[in-house]
Amino acid sequence: MALRVQKYGGTSVADIERINNVADRVQKAYDADDKIVVVLSAMSGVTDSLISLARQASKTPDKRELDVLLATGEQTTAALLAMILKSRGYKAKSFLGFQAGIHTDNSSGKARILDIDCKNIQLALKDGYIAVVAGFQGTDDDGDITTLGRGGSDTSAVAIASSLKADVCEIFTDVDGVYTTDPRICSNARKINKISYEEMLEMAILGAKVLQIRSVEFAKKFNVPLHVRSSFNEEEGTMVVNESSDMESVIVSGITCDMNEARITLKRVPDQPGVSAKIFTPLAQAEISVDMIIQNTRSGGETDLTFTVTKDDFERAKEISYKVAKQIGATEILTAEEIAKVSVIGLGMKSHSGVAATMFQALASENINIRLISTSEIRISCVILAKYAELAVRTLHTAFGLDQEQ
Ligand code: ADP
Ligand code: ASP
Ligand code: MG
Repeated sequence: MALRVQKYGGTSVADIERINNVADRVQKAYDADDKIVVVLSAMSGVTDSLISLARQASKTPDKRELDVLLATGEQTTAALLAMILKSRGYKAKSFLGFQAGIHTDNSSGKARILDIDCKNIQLALKDGYIAVVAGFQGTDDDGDITTLGRGGSDTSAVAIASSLKADVCEIFTDVDGVYTTDPRICSNARKINKISYEEMLEMAILGAKVLQIRSVEFAKKFNVPLHVRSSFNEEEGTMVVNESSDMESVIVSGITCDMNEARITLKRVPDQPGVSAKIFTPLAQAEISVDMIIQNTRSGGETDLTFTVTKDDFERAKEISYKVAKQIGATEILTAEEIAKVSVIGLGMKSHSGVAATMFQALASENINIRLISTSEIRISCVILAKYAELAVRTLHTAFGLDQEQ
């Protein structure tokens, strides 16, 4: 008997017919003598619609109430699946975040799971129930409903799998697994059969939204075996596992693109000790995380300082930057929202040189200008104009030999 946690994303529960398909799968696994915990997302588009409703209600929706509203998307699908399973004669029970014992901090809209008390789920499983859990939600110390950030049902599933010591956490989605790049951008993308937690984490951080970043962090930390696969067929998907020796041979395993950042440049900043601290301390105090930072030295004791933040934080970061610019005597601020960050990722980069050169040559061959560059041990990222993003992804995919054979 295996204990499986199965998570189904928005497209997989988009309407009653699809929820019935999910019920078929769950039923099959249960009949095969597995214990099943199902974690569900809201129907696709529902979270967006709820956000848009909230914005109609208030220009700046109260964060606590927004979480109460957003959590209803997952409440709906969990109840519907449990109803369908029961009507088919199966023992099933739905659980909201708090009933599943998901305890989070109090950062509304991007809460972190602190701990899970799975006793209700365990009891249900012991009594032969299929547990159907509403993903994306938990409660904080005050008992207030919180949500885990976009894509957060992945994290609910991995956290529950870890707490129950499940044999596998299956992430059912609308593609066949993790690909070398987003298959919707590049039709030549190849499915990866096995990927390390480390590479998957970089891919998630750098924009591959197939798994939420925190879900991969969690899986890596607690060694949860993850299987990313399609809810529309029976194919094996991608196993996300610990690094193994055969993985090193691949120099570049994936390409990602992140359109969710914006750029701010402070021009003619005095080149003196403490100036960067004056800029980045108020940003940190406002809980704005800065991604890339580049400083260009000019002659005459001045520098230009450029950094990127997520689009969500852009307005607030701009406001703070204007204030700081006045204080430190920076002459001008330039901003750009229409940017994309394309990245190449691979464990093999640790031991191979020339990856950056290949990347820059490939972008140059399409006349794509690189605005910012940053690197780590296993990735290189370039910021370019957003309009070139898809071309850049396809060009890099070919340049690193990732295209599938025709
Ligand atoms: P779900 O609703 O099931 O959670 P998401 O939309 O969050 O699904 O994630 C799946 C999507 O992630 C795919 O439809 C695909 O367009 C996108 N994606 C981006 N990069 C990748 C990648 N490298 N491999 C697979 N899918 C990717
Ligand atoms: N429904 C939430 C979202 O759309 C959470 C999820 O689907 O994982 O982001
Ligand atoms: Mg998702």
